[in-house]
Parts: sequence; C-alpha cells; structure tokens
Amino acid sequence: MEHYDAIIIGSGLGGLACGATLSREGMKVCVLERHGVLGGCLQSFRRQGRMLDTGMHYVGSMAPGQILHQYFKYYGIADRLQLDRLDPEAYDVIRFGEERYVYACGYDRFAERLAERFPAERAGIEAYCDLLQRVGTTISPELLRAGRLSADGSEYMGLSVFESIAECTRNPELRRVLAGTTGLHSRDRARTSFYEHAMIQHSYIESAWRFVGGTQHVADALVEAIRRHGGEVRSGMEVTRLGLDGRKIGYVEVNGTDRLAGRYVVSAIHPAATFALLDDPNAIRPAFFRHVRTLGNSCGIFTTYLLMKPGSCPYVGSNYYLHADESDGWTMRVDYRGCNLPVVLVCMQPDPTRNYAEALSLLVPMPSDEWQPWAGTTLGHRGADYAAWKERYAQTSIDFVARYFPAIRSQIEAVYTASPLTYRHYTATPDGSAYGIVKDCRNSLSTHLSVRTRIENLLLTGQNINVHGALGVCVSAAATCSALVGEEYLTKKIGYE
Ligand SMILES: Cc1cc2nc3c(=O)[nH]c(=O)nc-3n(C[C@H](O)[C@H](O)[C@H](O)COP(=O)(O)OP(=O)(O)OC[C@H]3O[C@@H](n4cnc5c(N)ncnc54)[C@H](O)[C@@H]3O)c2cc1C
Repeated sequence: MEHYDAIIIGSGLGGLACGATLSREGMKVCVLERHGVLGGCLQSFRRQGRMLDTGMHYVGSMAPGQILHQYFKYYGIADRLQLDRLDPEAYDVIRFGEERYVYACGYDRFAERLAERFPAERAGIEAYCDLLQRVGTTISPELLRAGRLSADGSEYMGLSVFESIAECTRNPELRRVLAGTTGLHSRDRARTSFYEHAMIQHSYIESAWRFVGGTQHVADALVEAIRRHGGEVRSGMEVTRLGLDGRKIGYVEVNGTDRLAGRYVVSAIHPAATFALLDDPNAIRPAFFRHVRTLGNSCGIFTTYLLMKPGSCPYVGSNYYLHADESDGWTMRVDYRGCNLPVVLVCMQPDPTRNYAEALSLLVPMPSDEWQPWAGTTLGHRGADYAAWKERYAQTSIDFVARYFPAIRSQIEAVYTASPLTYRHYTATPDGSAYGIVKDCRNSLSTHLSVRTRIENLLLTGQNINVHGALGVCVSAAATCSALVGEEYLTKKIGYE
C-alpha cells in the first residue's frame, strides 16, 4: 500500500488549494479525482474552438495586495493566471425591466453610483457599505500577517441579508437592487445570511475580474504547483471507501480495488458523501450523520452557452443580472415553461481582440423538481425527451434575455446547454447543487460545519464549509491546512508571501 502524509479527495479548487498548501509545507500529498478531467467547477470545455467555463465566471479581490491574490500568490500561481479586469464603474449591472443600476468598484464609487439613482438614500447606502466592509475585513491580508485566519465573523452569520438590507433602507426599489445578485445563490430570503452576501460583495467591490482562456488553466496551474513540490494529482481515481482502523482512517479505497494510506485524509467533497464512504457509518454519531444528510443544499444552475457570430456582439466588461420587472429580487411566481424566470446572469467571454464577445453564458437557478423526471438517468443516456426539455429551456432563457438585448438572437451561431444533472455528473455534487450546503442564518451554528471530524485524521474542506466561491473555498482550505500545520505559522506565511 502506498503511503502519504495527506490524501485529498476531490480536485476542485478546495482539494487543489489544500494540495498546493500542504505540498508546499513539505507534506507528501496525493489528490484523488474520480473524473477524467481535473478541476471540479474549474473545468472548461471547448466547443467550435471556443473555451467555455462551467463554474467560475468572475472573482473578486485579485488586485495585488488583496486577499484572494494573496492566496494565489502563496500557492505560487498568481503570475500564471490570465485575468481581465471587469469595468470598475459597472462590474455588475442589475436590471429590473427598464430600470438599470450599476455596482462600481471602490466603496466611494459604489455608494456614489447608487446615490445618483437614490439621492434621498445616501445614508442608507453608506450604512450598507459600512456593514459590508465590517464583514469583508474579518478576513484580510493584515490579519493573515498578524497570524490569524479571520476575526470573529460569527455575529454576521446569524444576520439575515434581507433584514440587514431592510434595516439600512426602507426604499423597496433600493432594497431589491442591493439584493440583486444574491438571488442566483439563494431564493430563500429567510435563510440567506448577511455574512455570505457580504463576503462575496465586499470582494467584488475591492476589484472584479474574469478569467480568460478558460478557468481550466487555474486548475492546471495548481496541479503543476503541487507536482513541483513533489505531490501527486491523479484523475480517474474515485474514492469508494474509507476503511477505519480504530478512531482513524486506515486506508482509502480507490475504484473499488486499490488501497492507499494517509496520515491524514482531507475530503473536499460534500460531507454527507464523505461520511457515506466510511466502512462503519457509526464512527460518526448517527444523529450528526443524519443532520449532515438532511442539511439543505443550494439549487443547481441551468447554463445556456451561446457561441456568438464573430464580430457581432460588442464585448462589455460587466455581468448582467436580469430580473423580471415585477420581481422584488427574492420572491416571484416562477414559471419556467412560461418564460417567467427568477433571474438570469449573463457573463461574457471576450474574443482575443477584447472588442467582441465570442461566447455568453446565461445562468439560471433551477430547483430539482424541474429535472426530476431524469434524476435516475446518466450522461449520454437521458433520452430524446431530456434533449427536447433542455432545448426548450435554452430557448426560454434566450427569450428572457432578448427582452433586454433584442439583437441577441441574430448574433447567435450555436447553442449548448448544461443542466444541474450535467453538473451532478461532472462534479458529483448532490442533486447538482451549485453552491453546496446552505448556511442558514437562523441556524448558523449547525449549518457551518467544522473542518475537524470525530475521526481523528479526517478533515473537511471545500465550499460546503464556510462560504462558496473562489474566496470562500480558499479560506476553507487555509482553515483545514491550519489544523495540520498550525494557524499562526500558515497565515503568516500566506500573508507575508
Ligand atoms: C454554475 C456555477 C457558477 C459559479 N460561478 C461562480 C463564480 O462566478 N465565482 C465564484 O467564485 N464561484 C462560482 N461558483 C462556485 C464555485 O465554483 C464553487 O464554490 C467552488 O468551485 C467549489 O469548489 P470545491 O472544491 O468545493 O468543489 P468542486 O469544484 O465541486 O470539486 C469537487 C471535486 O470532487 C470530485 N469528487 C467527488 N466525489 C469524489 C470521490 N468519491 N472521489 C474522488 N473525487 C471525487 C468531483 O468530481 C469534483 O472534481 C459557481 C458554481 C457553479 C456551479
């Protein structure tokens, strides 16, 4: 049996970030990925010569000295990344019918641009910015240099984003604008925490970026960094069992046959899936296992990819969150077949000249009852009715977007789609959930899982711990690795890199 210091399950950003960290800190690591392609939600694929991304359309805090940049610098890949800065005056455009609002980078400009539209609400906008900043700075490069991963943000985990915004302003229009991007992650205003909202918003207000040339290059750079430090990353290696030896994992079974041994096992997949791999499920308290299994997951995303005719669609460095006119940003009667969608996020991929978009991704949150008829099918064997359903759904999304961009239909060269079932196939997330476990502000303690488990050498990481997204996952990776190499030591190293 091969022996490692750390075996890491899953090669999404969470697993690769842990692999880059632990290998750099001298551990002999092995990252195991079930799929043939590495990267999880960082995977890209090529269609008609154009690279299309699956699960990372834009990231924040990537200017030198900002928090996410600091993490990527420490992983040794910051100078390998191909990034385009989004328009600092309008990185996100929020539309409700004819009304158009923009989010700008820098708190002064962010507040200024919104105050231009809501002059009587300046105090409320500033109160909202102040609250965002207080949460955002609970993780900062300064804190890392002081030897700490984060200042206590738990008081904000129990705050609802809906109520926090409502406390800043009584203006219903401003309320829905401030919540304008959150509906993609969560449509439940009672549960969504201000902490999650603020972590994401704060990082984009610091600076907003798009990876170009396919996010696969981020995964590839991390894999190279791990190998440079003597680590291994192996695809086509599905972990099928975790064999216990007393209170520890004694072996990791791969593809039902091979066995590997690790001093530590770090799981970067869903915690319920992790515990289900244990050969004795009672090693985890049954009540806790039940609790983890019943934690709600975010809904999946249906993505419609549009390949645009060359030179037809001008490129804009903004993302568009398109809401139906009557939506309050949270609740509305959703009727997918009636083209009554909750929100569509449009992200553009520039061509090499940066003058035109070569592809557009249209992202729509999709509850599981929409795709239930095909829940028991596998990729490539879902049948003609599934293909017809996807086609109808893509056309519904395009019709919705055409209300805002009437020329779009004439610019399309080809259409491809990915449903939550496609994501389930390629990332193995339960029900194709896009963002993993919902961190419920009414129950923040029990929905934020610890990186440590009852099994002495088993640790958790990835988007199901802490906050989803590039930044949340890197912070989770640092929390997990801190448990192995020491928080003060690791955070100072990341902070002073
Ligand atoms: C459509 C979509 C759009 C998104 N847009 C953005 C965005 O614009 N910006 C942003 O910051 N975030 C975005 N996110 C969220 C972000 O992609 C995720 O939060 C993050 O990438 C999750 O990383 P992870 O490592 O936790 O999990 P994953 O990327 O899901 O990786 C888990 C890996 O584990 C592997 N695996 C599972 N089971 C096993 C097993 N038994 N053995 C071995 N391997 C296994 C899977 O195949 C997968 O590769 C988006 C997500 C989606 C779905």
